[in-house]
Amino acid sequence: MTDFTPPTRRQLLTMIGKAGGAAALYQAMTVLGHAAESQFRGPPQLTGARPGARVLVLGAGLAGMLAAYELTKAGYAVQILEFQDRTGGRNYTVRGGDTITELGSTQKVQFAPGNYLNPGPWRLPYHHRTVLHYCQELGVELEHFAQLNHNAMVHSKDAYGGKPQRYRDLYVDYKGHVAELLAKALNAGALDTAVTVEDKARLLEAMREWGVLDKAMTYSKGLKVGTLRDTLQTKVWETIGFYADHTMQTTMFQPKGGMDHIGKAFAAKVAHLVRLNTRVTRIAQDHAGVTVNWTDTQTGAAGQSSADWLVCTIPATVLGQIDVQVSDAKKAAIRALPYGNSVKIGLEMKRRFWETDYAIYGGHSFTDQPIGLISYPSGNWFGKGPAVLLGAYPFGTGDNPFSLGGYMLSAMSPEKRLAAALEQGSVFHPAEYKAEFLSGASVAWSRMPWILGCCAAWTEDSRAAHYQNLVSLDGRVVLAGEHCSYYGCWQEGALLSSLDAITRLHQRASAA
Ligand SMILES: Cc1cc2nc3c(=O)[nH]c(=O)nc-3n(C[C@H](O)[C@H](O)[C@H](O)COP(=O)(O)OP(=O)(O)OC[C@H]3O[C@@H](n4cnc5c(N)ncnc54)[C@H](O)[C@@H]3O)c2cc1C
Repeated sequence: MTDFTPPTRRQLLTMIGKAGGAAALYQAMTVLGHAAESQFRGPPQLTGARPGARVLVLGAGLAGMLAAYELTKAGYAVQILEFQDRTGGRNYTVRGGDTITELGSTQKVQFAPGNYLNPGPWRLPYHHRTVLHYCQELGVELEHFAQLNHNAMVHSKDAYGGKPQRYRDLYVDYKGHVAELLAKALNAGALDTAVTVEDKARLLEAMREWGVLDKAMTYSKGLKVGTLRDTLQTKVWETIGFYADHTMQTTMFQPKGGMDHIGKAFAAKVAHLVRLNTRVTRIAQDHAGVTVNWTDTQTGAAGQSSADWLVCTIPATVLGQIDVQVSDAKKAAIRALPYGNSVKIGLEMKRRFWETDYAIYGGHSFTDQPIGLISYPSGNWFGKGPAVLLGAYPFGTGDNPFSLGGYMLSAMSPEKRLAAALEQGSVFHPAEYKAEFLSGASVAWSRMPWILGCCAAWTEDSRAAHYQNLVSLDGRVVLAGEHCSYYGCWQEGALLSSLDAITRLHQRASAA
């Protein structure tokens, strides 16, 4: 028999949905618009720009560079203004020799040649068709990103005596406990009004197989790592359910050698159009065109650029502090949009002990400590020499313990972050973690001066009140980027939003 306190209905439904109902859950979510497939139907067919028509694009992240790429093909004269000394925006990879500049600190990255950290985007789901399309078109080599690894671990301070457990064991255990419970309810007739007699028999048989139950329909043959109470009270089930989310499902990909290969591939097409080190300070428009004021961040000189139309991909956190001549409703939308935070920490280790000593090849080990998780590299398996693993990745707006970790780590100096990451990550690999450590690097997104956050964090209420106002064409100005999409915090959203914005802009420009 299983040692358990009966879960509430809500807990039970959530557990079943997480464990066995991904497809059903997905259908329901799709109806609600939460897990809709990408609307990408191929690149836009924009042709026939008026001769001499000019477009200014603000920001050289993926949204800005894609806009420039497609608008140039359509015949527009495009210029991009970019704050930083590099293109790519959040599409960013750091390697040995790079400098990371945050508000209040700089770090010199010391990784060995070939090693890297993707501080921002790092994985591409199979259904992000826009990203995958442009990777193919621009020749970006993709490799497998190991997302779910049954042999990686889950750790909770309050469960299983605080000892990390292999995901595969917890998953079997979890299924067993839930299956036993459901079988009990079925056999007690508690669900007789919900299932037919035939379906009840089938469901019992399914539960026996799914939950590895014995003849008496109890989970006696299983591993029994812990109790159902362990799973419920510590919310380990949320970690288990993570992989059921539509955007977290396999297959996943990553660009070989670093995520910035996508940005570099776009830059190969549009870099000649970009003015780097150019901080936009004011955006104005009238019936004749748009005018943008900027400061050269290297010389301090002020400058001005003008055009007929403008695509602005500057994140709302920064745009909200700039004088922008748009409607009050759009200004309100820009200012109403909060951003979440995230910290990623790369730890270079002397050798791949997680592979040689633990048989872990890619995937994530989760913990309820502030670091959130550690993740093992998907590239160069079996490689000799130093390798970089992801030593922390808390994420969100700080409304739960997991996302609070991002704020805790970003409040620390880079040195203290490394010490915290080493201490907390040691729970998974106590003998090796500190002993094999060579060097580390971190990015706290709330401290990156050109974005001051990680990604837009829409709520249902803020979307209802402001989304249409944010994305609508305003005279000669349109906004684009991750924050102007339903695919928040994905490159897919940045690209889709860009295609949508330039298609509408082209229609207006053609009609003007
Ligand atoms: C921690 C993290 C993890 C993520 N994980 C994933 C993932 O696994 N997969 C995925 O697909 N996506 C992921 N994303 C999301 C993805 O990075 C973004 O959706 C996408 O890169 C945003 O592109 P963008 O062009 O909209 O914005 P950005 O890339 O932010 O581009 C905006 C540009 O505007 C510039 N700018 C800012 N202010 C000014 C100014 N005043 N003047 C001129 N220019 C200015 C900036 O320097 C920047 O280059 C992640 C993001 C983060 C931060």
